[in-house]
Amino acid sequence: MSEPLDPVRGRRAFFQQTLALAAAVGANASCSRRTHGGAPRAEALPAAEPVKQAARAASGPRVGFAVVGLGKFATEQILPAFAACTRARLVALVSGSPDKAKRIGEQYGIEAKNLYDYTNFDRIRENAAVDVVYVILPNSLHAQYSERAARAGKHVLCEKPMAVTAKECEGMIHASKAAGKKLMIAYRAQFEPHNLRAIEMVRRGDIGRVKTIIADHGRILRPEQPSDSWRAKRALAGGGSLVDIGIYSIQAARYITGEEPLEVSARTFSTPNDARFAEVEETVAFTLAFPSGVLANCTASYGHAEGKRYRVFGEKGYLDLDPATAYEGNVLRASKDGKSAELVEVPQGNQFASQMDHLAECIQSGEEPKTPGEEGLRDVRILEAIYTAAREHRPVRFAADTQRG
Ligand code: NAD
Repeated sequence: MSEPLDPVRGRRAFFQQTLALAAAVGANASCSRRTHGGAPRAEALPAAEPVKQAARAASGPRVGFAVVGLGKFATEQILPAFAACTRARLVALVSGSPDKAKRIGEQYGIEAKNLYDYTNFDRIRENAAVDVVYVILPNSLHAQYSERAARAGKHVLCEKPMAVTAKECEGMIHASKAAGKKLMIAYRAQFEPHNLRAIEMVRRGDIGRVKTIIADHGRILRPEQPSDSWRAKRALAGGGSLVDIGIYSIQAARYITGEEPLEVSARTFSTPNDARFAEVEETVAFTLAFPSGVLANCTASYGHAEGKRYRVFGEKGYLDLDPATAYEGNVLRASKDGKSAELVEVPQGNQFASQMDHLAECIQSGEEPKTPGEEGLRDVRILEAIYTAAREHRPVRFAADTQRG
């Protein structure tokens, strides 16, 4: 078993890091050589060029990343973001399709010997250029590939949700600790400038004592599209809208309050006879109750048009993020003393590059990442409690060891 978690120290360290990161984003947004927040947006660069450009700009040793799974998110967001990294570098690809690996490898200047498939993946152990394995596979494969990567002596960056059960998350934490390697969960919103500014404003007391939060994430599930087909299958996704996008609302409620929930109540609904929801839920509504008294009312749905927002109500005003968790173009507004909400100017940053550079920096410095495996485990325990609450029609209280204290 892994060593016991220390939620109190972990959360304090997390908030110290978060505020430091927020300050860095605010002060250095235009400086492309900064680790966080100041990187140029990858979208501004030609798609075929980015990694070559980044490699030429490198000024010191970089941390080599292997990306596992060349699906929609990996190819459209993560691979282009390496162009904006200052510490992380793409060095290897893992794909079940040799043609795809070859084509994308050529696009990003990856040597043929650094292309792997799922059967020879474990040979990545012999590749000294690979420091980190970034797992971007369907959810139920996260645990297996993260553990194999740790056993191969590699640090791991794993997509959300960390895994489909808390037990799997514990196994991942154990595997990385046993290997003496880092495990980070890719919670990009914790590296996104608008979310960091919102945390900073709440901590500073700009809207007074927080009372309630509403957080909603939704989009239409389209299983006819490859990247959604596995999301409709319980065995691959582990759940429906909750685990896929509701997790952003859970994260927001936790990083805005800086607390761990005491209790959750929940309800699910799936449109009868809609084949998309034969195995996974369509909609979930849940309420998280925090020790300070904050109530967070959250929804996740695969049945309505896209929305990804949250609002934080305090005694003196409110913060509104809409969109809050988009890949780019998030918007933060603040209302104080009953006046209408005003735009808060926040420089855009590349959250994907910032999170990869953060892990690279932690590897170089020996620090713990601010979103370690324990952070992913907390969310998966909350996901499990939400399903229990909905299934059993009763509030579920969290065990004391999940509390921040
Ligand atoms: P996707 O279907 O586009 O990509 C998944 C990849 O895994 C594909 O290349 C597929 O070929 C491969 N794969 C390997 N084994 C497979 C199997 N047995 N069944 C199905 N596919 C298999 O999905 P995606 O949208 O890119 O999501 C991948 C992961 O990234 C998920 O965990 C998802 O939650 C996460 N994600 C995160 C964000 C974010 O903003 N952080 C956004 C989208 C997706």
